[in-house]
Amino acid sequence: MEIIISKNSAEASALAAEIFKRQMEEKPNSVLGLATGGTVVELYNELAKMCAEKRISFKKATSFNLDEYIGLPVGDKNSYRTFMNETFFSKVDIDINKTFVPDGNAENPRAYCMQYENKIRFHGGIDLQLLGIGADGHIGFNEPSSSLASRTRIKTLTQQTREDNARFFGGDINQVPLHAITMGVGTIMDARTVVLLAFGANKADAVAQMVEGSITAEVPASVLQMHPNAKIFLDEASASKLKRRDYYDFVYANKIPE
Ligand code: PGA
Repeated sequence: MEIIISKNSAEASALAAEIFKRQMEEKPNSVLGLATGGTVVELYNELAKMCAEKRISFKKATSFNLDEYIGLPVGDKNSYRTFMNETFFSKVDIDINKTFVPDGNAENPRAYCMQYENKIRFHGGIDLQLLGIGADGHIGFNEPSSSLASRTRIKTLTQQTREDNARFFGGDINQVPLHAITMGVGTIMDARTVVLLAFGANKADAVAQMVEGSITAEVPASVLQMHPNAKIFLDEASASKLKRRDYYDFVYANKIPE
C-alpha cells in the first residue's frame, strides 16, 4: 500500500487526479471503476476542469460503477446513476453509452449481478478503480462480514451506512434503501490499480484498521493490504490515527519517480 497524506482534501484530490491523467495518457481506452459519495466530488471536479482544459480525455474510456441502491425509481435524485450523470459524466467527454452503473431496478437482480461481472470481464477488466471507504470499513457496499472473495451481488446495508447516508435522504434513515447491488471485494481486488480516498476525522478509525489492522472481513477495506498496487490518499484528519505516519511521509518524500 502506498499511503499519501496531504494537508487537505483538495490537495489529495489533485494528486489523485494526476493518477487518472497518467492512466488516460498511457491507455486512452482504459476501463475505469468509479465510485460515488461525498469524498470523490472534489476529484471529479478536478477531472472535469482538466478535461475542459484539454489536459485529460475520457473519449475512449469505459466505466463501471461500484454500486447502486436497489429499488429507487429511475432518475431518483439519490440514485448513483443520477449522481454520476450530474457530478461527472455530463462534465467530461466520456461516451455516456460506455458508462455502466448497476441497475437497481433489474427484474432479476441476482442474474443481473452475474451479467455485470461478465460485462466487466468482456471489457478486459478494470484498469483503475476509484474507492471511498465507509466509517465501518466498507468498500463499495461490501459491509463488514462480506466475503473477501465476493463478486458482484446484492448486499443488505448496515445501520451505520444507512445512518451515514440519511443526510442525502432528508435526514430520514427510513428513506435509505435496505439493499444495494455492489461489486464484490474480489471484483475490486481484480482491478490493476486501486485509488482510495478518505477524508475527515470520522474515517480515521476505518483508515487505521485498513492500513495497520489485521486483514479481516470485519473491515473489508483491509484486504487492500493484499493488493499489489493500491494508493491511499488521505487528509490530515483521516490519517490522524495511523501509528506509522512518519514512515509513510518519509517513503513518499523519498519516492523514486514511477
Ligand atoms: P462518502 O462515502 O464518500 O460519502 O463518505 C464513502 C463510502 O461509503 O464508500
